[in-house]
Amino acid sequence: MVKLIIRDDDCNFFTRPEDLEYVYRSISDFPVTFAVVPEVTDVYGGCPDTINNTTPRPVGENKKLVTYLKQKLEEGKCDITLHGVYHGYKFDKDGKKIPEMIWRNNEPDLCENLGRCKKYLEETFDYPINCFVAPSNRILKEGVRAVYSNGMNYSGIIASSFNREFSLKSFVNYIKRWSIRLFLGFPYPGVMNYGTHLEMNATNRTSYDFLKKLFHYCDKHDMSLAINVHYWHIRDNEEHYKGFFDFIDYALAHGAVPTRMSDCFK
Ligand SMILES: [Zn+2]
Repeated sequence: MVKLIIRDDDCNFFTRPEDLEYVYRSISDFPVTFAVVPEVTDVYGGCPDTINNTTPRPVGENKKLVTYLKQKLEEGKCDITLHGVYHGYKFDKDGKKIPEMIWRNNEPDLCENLGRCKKYLEETFDYPINCFVAPSNRILKEGVRAVYSNGMNYSGIIASSFNREFSLKSFVNYIKRWSIRLFLGFPYPGVMNYGTHLEMNATNRTSYDFLKKLFHYCDKHDMSLAINVHYWHIRDNEEHYKGFFDFIDYALAHGAVPTRMSDCFK
């Protein structure tokens, strides 16, 4: 049995409920996991709704969005995870984007800051937050420590470097993740236990054939499958996602169970 998770990143102060309703209209009962930005600045090169915004905008001030998501939470039809603080980028001297959890890695108040954001989302949505999603899926050791110190688990993509605290568990996980990637050509699906917290990758590939192959691997090995998308990208590139929605239909017809990411960590 495959637990199927859709992780949709970047919900923020500027997000319109109509857009969420529109992009998921064909699977309106699917409990999508929204990774919410607590105080968005500019998701540079990403969510176009935030372009040129320089002031941190608290998501709770978008009353329409809060009401919409709270209603869905009450019906068990969505999930919320924490997605960064500002989701802002900095730039190195060559103009390359540095994601938030990389430039914040050595901030002395990182742990306190993530704790504050977690509490803010919990109070805003009246919902427990047990998962952190790093902007651009990039995080380092200190960031991971701040995540589990605040009682959260992690969802993101594996990096090539060993950027976790060293332990037997984390070493075994690293080997497992890379063997699957090298030999089968996809990121390790399913939940990994690091002792301090749990982690689950979400693939950002959305082609029908790729997802079908991954699904049958998960089905054979009794693993969960999480897919990472962005509502604004689906909204603006509908044609591109035909295969993704066809795959969701296929997976549901073949016994996949729609699941919230936070339930995978319970
Ligand atoms: Zn994001």
